Amino acid sequence: MAPSEESLLPPGARLERVATGATWSEGPVWLDDPGVVRWSDIPGNRILEYRPADGSCRVHREDVEFTNGRTLDLDGTVLQCSHGRRAVEREVDGVPETLVDRWNGVRFNSPNDIVVSSDGAVWFTDPAYGIVQPAEGHPGEREYRDHYVFRFVPATGELHPVIMDMEDPNGLAFSPDESVLYVSDTSAALVPGGRHHIRAYDVVDGRRCKYGRTLAVIEPGVPDGFRVDVEGRIWTSSEDAVQVLDAEGRVLQRIPVPERVGNLCFGGPDGRDLYIAASTSLYRISTTTTDAARRR
Ligand code: MG
Repeated sequence: MAPSEESLLPPGARLERVATGATWSEGPVWLDDPGVVRWSDIPGNRILEYRPADGSCRVHREDVEFTNGRTLDLDGTVLQCSHGRRAVEREVDGVPETLVDRWNGVRFNSPNDIVVSSDGAVWFTDPAYGIVQPAEGHPGEREYRDHYVFRFVPATGELHPVIMDMEDPNGLAFSPDESVLYVSDTSAALVPGGRHHIRAYDVVDGRRCKYGRTLAVIEPGVPDGFRVDVEGRIWTSSEDAVQVLDAEGRVLQRIPVPERVGNLCFGGPDGRDLYIAASTSLYRISTTTTDAARRR
């Protein structure tokens, strides 16, 4: 085993399936209180929760309008994307409240994944998967006729597209110092010959993205969802594995997974467990690091 691999997984780390029974798993997030992983079963149109303390799995809510990616706001509130409502929403006491659902008078496509920067701004991708795939939402039109990445400021209502040169923006995450925004383009998921790479953009003045460049082409599969750890490494889905890349896009490690990986998050009491949402199941493996966003 290469030295870099030893530093990413503790000795004896083993992938385990901790829950199953979903249709297509996405959007996991760890909630410190009450100590659960909450994730989306998109075609199942429900939200699931796994509690490692007793190994139980339960349905958190049903008929959820096809939620997808989720993250935590600065105050710990869950923010999530809804294909069905074509919105970014905040969930308070089990009740979703729409945070934002249109730009310039037209609806979004189907917000897919979401991150919050340390100034409280909400950044999210808006591909069309939830309006062109009937199992993942409701059929609809691309009302602004493209697929952008947006930045929304809840305190002021300020909303503007920050990336307009991608085909199907999907996963996204900041570098530890928030100077770089990584966004994946997964147009290959529906279009033969399409894109399956992660791009990097410099974040200027905390509110604009410039100088986009392709960081890494991910193979096999598409980099649907990913997280950045405190050392700036990118942990991304890649079909039947999680790949770990350094900030130059070099693959440091590959963790095989028995199903197709959709997305992942760090969690557990010390934040060092990697939870992997893959097809019908949720998997876990111990790591030696944690999410950069957890330390901000
Ligand atoms: Mg996604």
